[in-house]
Amino acid sequence: MARIVMKFGGTSMAGTERIRNVAARVKHEVDAGNEVAVVVSAMAGETDRLINFCREAAPLHDPKEYDVVVAAGEQITSGLLAITLQAMGVKARSWLGWQLPIQTSDAHASARIEDIDTKGLIAAMSAGEVAVIPGFQGVTEDNRITTLGRGGSDTSAVAVAAAVKADRCDIYTDVDGVYTTDPRIVPRARKLAKVTYEEMLELASVGAKVLQTRSVGLAMKENVRVQVLSSFDAPTDNPITGTLIVGDDDIGEDEMERQLITGIAHDKNEAKVTLTSVPDRPGAVANIFGPLADANINVDMIIQNIAHDSGSTDVTFTVPGAELARAIDTLEKGKDVIGFSNLMHDTKVAKISVVGVGMRSHAGVAATMFKALAQRGINVQAISTSEIKVSVLIDEDETELAVRVLHTAYGLDAEDAA
Ligand code: ADP
Ligand code: ASP
Ligand code: MG
Repeated sequence: MARIVMKFGGTSMAGTERIRNVAARVKHEVDAGNEVAVVVSAMAGETDRLINFCREAAPLHDPKEYDVVVAAGEQITSGLLAITLQAMGVKARSWLGWQLPIQTSDAHASARIEDIDTKGLIAAMSAGEVAVIPGFQGVTEDNRITTLGRGGSDTSAVAVAAAVKADRCDIYTDVDGVYTTDPRIVPRARKLAKVTYEEMLELASVGAKVLQTRSVGLAMKENVRVQVLSSFDAPTDNPITGTLIVGDDDIGEDEMERQLITGIAHDKNEAKVTLTSVPDRPGAVANIFGPLADANINVDMIIQNIAHDSGSTDVTFTVPGAELARAIDTLEKGKDVIGFSNLMHDTKVAKISVVGVGMRSHAGVAATMFKALAQRGINVQAISTSEIKVSVLIDEDETELAVRVLHTAYGLDAEDAA
């Protein structure tokens, strides 16, 4: 007997028929004698629909009330799954975020889970009742509903798994594992049997949306055994059919050597900002990035050009597309202090990143990237690197081409692909 957390994403929960399929999977685990908690997402498209209602009601709205609205999608699916399980003869009840409670910070729309009270949950699970928990939602100390940021149900699932000390946290989605790149863009992508926490963290943070970044960080910290698998494959008695997220030690030496690059991700949600004729003197960049940091705007790639004869320079950087308007506002307000002439911005850009722990011990990863892109005439507008990642910024229209070209250049294409 094992204690498992099963998480089902939006596509898996989209409609009565699919919820019935999910319930059958849960029943399969219950019949095998396991204690089960299920974390569910809202039906696919529902969260977008609810966000739109808030925007229509008022473009600038109270984030506390936004959370009340968008948390509702998961409330519906958790109730529906409990009803469906009961109809199949499986004991089940829903536990909303405020009922457990799942205590979070008060950063509305991007709250952090601080504590989960597991007393009632564990008692119910041990008595053979399936606990159905809406993902994405929690409650603050002063009883206001919160949500965890887009894709947050993954984080809810990992947090519940850590809190109840689950043996496994199975994340069921609409693909059957983590691939070398988004299989919807590159049909030749290969499914990975294992990927390290660190690589998955990096891949998720640069756009591989199969897991929310925070869920991976939490799994790594709490040592939760996470598996990504498909909710559309028939249930089997083999507990491992998808991709396991594991520690470095669980990947053999030779497996590490196997591929230099583990995966490639893309992100179309970045925006590029260029400030022209910034004075080339100490403190100039601090004047730019200090106020952006104070406004809680994340800056990613940064390039400072060499100085013009006039003693000034151009500075280019990227910010999340959703923060562009605030970034422009912040920079315009600081124009006199920063001393730039023009502010230019472009949202038609994409960040392409290659990730792999093998990079630590091998030279030439970036060179291969630049050469492969150059051969296809793809211009690189900005570059950033970490110990296990190289990212480039390119024209958004070239995203799919760039991902495919790099996938081939690093030898990642599936062998049986035509
Ligand atoms: P869910 O609703 O189940 O949470 P998401 O849409 O959030 O599902 O994540 C699954 C999607 O992630 C897949 O449909 C796939 O298009 C995308 N994806 C991006 N990168 C990868 C990758 N490297 N491996 C697998 N899927 C990926
Ligand atoms: N429903 C939320 C979203 O669409 C949370 C999730 O599905 O993980 O972002
Ligand atoms: Mg998701």
